[in-house]
Formats: sequence, structure tokens, C-alpha cells
Amino acid sequence: MKTIGLLGGMSWESTVGYYRAINKGVKNSLGGLHSAKIAMYSVDFDPIEKLQHSGDWDGTAKILSQAAKGIESAGADFILICTNTMHKVAQEIENAINIPLLHIADATADVLVKEGIKTVGLLGTAFTMEEDFYKGRLTEKYGLNVLVPEKEDRDVVHGVIYEELCLGNIDANSKAEYLRIIDALAKDGAEAVILGCTEIGMLVSQEDTMVKLLDTTEIHAQKAVEYALAI
Ligand code: GLU
Repeated sequence: MKTIGLLGGMSWESTVGYYRAINKGVKNSLGGLHSAKIAMYSVDFDPIEKLQHSGDWDGTAKILSQAAKGIESAGADFILICTNTMHKVAQEIENAINIPLLHIADATADVLVKEGIKTVGLLGTAFTMEEDFYKGRLTEKYGLNVLVPEKEDRDVVHGVIYEELCLGNIDANSKAEYLRIIDALAKDGAEAVILGCTEIGMLVSQEDTMVKLLDTTEIHAQKAVEYALAI
């Protein structure tokens, strides 16, 4: 079994989900007392969030590249960045290390392609919904048609992530808002909706809606298990 490197803490609430999903995945495959071999570096998210919102992505890349090097020297065979948003600096992080990086958008696109889904809705931070590092990868590399909510709704989705979910707060009104936005994406033609932020699965899950949801935390974690076990 390979050792899985986790660059986590963004936020730590979602890294808990990764840790659980990866260990469950290994246990399901190998049984008994088997669990995943993990080397994790969990950052202090507050300064990172400040750098993001002030537009200092180079600053975030420096911190995360340093952390990734630590994960590599701790013995990880490959690495996951446990957030969609920070894939904005995935290339810089990849350049700093000598082990493979499993990109969260590639893991998600693999599921979409396998299921024959061509038009997909995307929820995440404003960075993820509006910039090209994520959407562009889905459209250019996989030929997917990606729909995002309108500006007002993107603001709602973004605000709930940083002001509630990253703090571990689950609010019923926010859940209703997310479900309304998911429905609107489906009405606009989305065959499924990507929960493209690793905390959203804390708020909404498949049993809340008829619209097919793709939880990037679960998908990324499952990809790591398959890669670690070579299945
Ligand atoms: N975990 C989130 C994501 O998947 C947002 C927090 C962050 O900015 O990293 O995008």
C-alpha cells in the first residue's frame, strides 16, 4: 500500500471528512484492521484565507509548497491538496515536489465521463466558480459544459463557505438556499451538480435532492484509495 500525502486544514473541518473517507475506503477494500497510511500536513487556515482574499496567491503557493515538501520528506508516495480552491496554485506545488499530485478536478471529471454526463453545475468558492483554473480544466481537458449560478447566488454560496462551513456551522436556511440554487442549475440543464468545495458535503447530501450530486471530498478520497491500493 502506498502512503497518501494530505495537504489539509483548508479548512480542517473538511480534512476530517478526507481522513474518514480514506480510512473507510481502505478498510472496505482490505478488511480487518487495515487502515490507510497517511502523511498529513494541516495548515493554519486563517493566514491563507487572508492571502486568498487579498489576491496574494504567490504567498499561498509559498506556504503550501513548503508544506508539500514536508509531506514528501515524511514519506508520502503521492499528494492530495484537500481543497478545490487551492488547486489555483496546484502547478506551483507540483513543481516544488517529486511525487505525483492527484488533481481534484481530474478525479471529478473521471466520474462525470464514466457516467456520460456532459453538462454539469458547479458550486464552490467564487474563485472556483469564476476563474479558469478549475472550470477551464473541466471544459478544455474533458469537453464538459460547466454551468455556475448567477452572481447573486454565487455570493451566497461563497459567503456560506467562509462564514459558516469553514467554521463548522451548519445552518438550515443556508441549506435551503443551496438546495434552491442546485435546483436552478438543474432547471438550466445541469445533469448533475459538483459540490466543488470540500465543505459543502457537510451541508447538503444526496438524500436532500433528486439532482445528482458529486461530492469532491468523497471522490478525491476514493481516488486516493484506488491509487494507494493500485485498484
Ligand atoms: N475547502 C474549500 C474548497 O474546496 C474552500 C476553502 C479554501 O479556500 O480552500 O474550495
